[in-house]
Amino acid sequence: MDPRVEQFMAQVKAKNPGENEFHQAVLEVAESLIPYIEENPKYKHAKVLERMTEPERVVLFRVPWVDDKGDVQINKGYRIEMNSAIGPYKGGLRFHPTVNLGILKFLAYEQVYKNSLTTLPMGGGKGGSDFDPKGKSDNEVMKFCQSFMTELSRHIGPNTDVPAGDIGVGGREIGFLFGQYKRLRNEFTGVLTGKGIEWGGSLIRPEATGYGTVYFAEEMLKNRGDSMKGKIVTVSGSGNVAQYATEKATELGAKVVTLSDSSGFIYDPNGIDAEKLTFAMELKNIKRGRIKEYADKYGVEYYEGKRPWGIKCDVALPCATQNEVNAEEAQTLIDNGCFVVAEGANMPSIPEAIEIYMKNRILYGLGKAANAGGVAVSGLEMSQNSLRLSWTREEVDQRLHQIMKDIHQTCLKFGTESDGFVNYPKGANIGGFVKVADSMLAQGVV
Ligand code: GLU
Repeated sequence: MDPRVEQFMAQVKAKNPGENEFHQAVLEVAESLIPYIEENPKYKHAKVLERMTEPERVVLFRVPWVDDKGDVQINKGYRIEMNSAIGPYKGGLRFHPTVNLGILKFLAYEQVYKNSLTTLPMGGGKGGSDFDPKGKSDNEVMKFCQSFMTELSRHIGPNTDVPAGDIGVGGREIGFLFGQYKRLRNEFTGVLTGKGIEWGGSLIRPEATGYGTVYFAEEMLKNRGDSMKGKIVTVSGSGNVAQYATEKATELGAKVVTLSDSSGFIYDPNGIDAEKLTFAMELKNIKRGRIKEYADKYGVEYYEGKRPWGIKCDVALPCATQNEVNAEEAQTLIDNGCFVVAEGANMPSIPEAIEIYMKNRILYGLGKAANAGGVAVSGLEMSQNSLRLSWTREEVDQRLHQIMKDIHQTCLKFGTESDGFVNYPKGANIGGFVKVADSMLAQGVV
């Protein structure tokens, strides 16, 4: 490792003990940025990267609520306000039992760079709770959301901090959170994104992350004179991102053969067509069942406790969660001929997996570039709320598509190496950094 990176990381680890995912996210960025900062000393002297690695504010709070049995439950609540140099803090809320400070700091850190890449004026933040929505009734989810928002409402606002969804937080949760905010503040504002279409939401927001990931993959392929058409695609996850990545990839002529959840994956060699996808969506979004039921219904293979990376494919779209592709799985993907990885999830590949992608010079679209479509359309939702207007599906989709093309261009600009190879991590990290860093320089030591 570059000794300057090593020295920087030693400080980060000493200041943030035990936050492994945060260290990982910072390292990924530092490897691209520290050599760049050496060449651009204005950032070095002002300690811009060091400042960006310290959240502007962290809010930790108690979330007490009463379950259906009448028992008192206590969860942890968090909001990390990482950086507001280019706009209000913006980023999702994650409700999952694995949530802790280190995980949310990694997500907030990535969000700063990602939001900058979208070209829209959004700072970075993230929040959530160790609350597990799995197996809870609608009433329990509502009680929890109301208690969570009762505290969070003091810290957010349409010009301050605008949360949205992430794992475990979808339309239902955003509805309960919005209702409670409105009641506490007596204000109807765009304080959250991912809202229902009847009450200030944007068309294409549910589709945006998945569509954006496939648009980004298509741009990477186009740059090599290729396209998604005819490609075999493995997708992990079966939530919002995986569902719409499957839809868009299929629309562009690819064949998606896998979906997964935390229990296992299904392999459908004939492809998950529109009808089967509708079944999977209903299963996951309404019945809140397990993906195994897809295998039972369509008579395809189900692999219990496994991830889909052993299945032969051209394009892999990890759309489940962090660290879901390890080094061995990355090698298997390559050995099986996979040459495109586009990440719908945040930080799904471990550092050693990324090393393998880079060594094999595949098209590797990292999360902060490839999955920025979700937050980009959140930004468009904020614009529509401010204008008190709503744009058509076509208008939003066209803007999303253009943003993904612009992000790809930024990656080319900052990531093309002397032999023509596009180092997407380098391009995205530097491209995301420059706008935030220049804004911080302009605003003084704050
Ligand atoms: N949670 C999403 C992300 O990781 C979306 C955030 C948002 O829409 O604010 O980017």
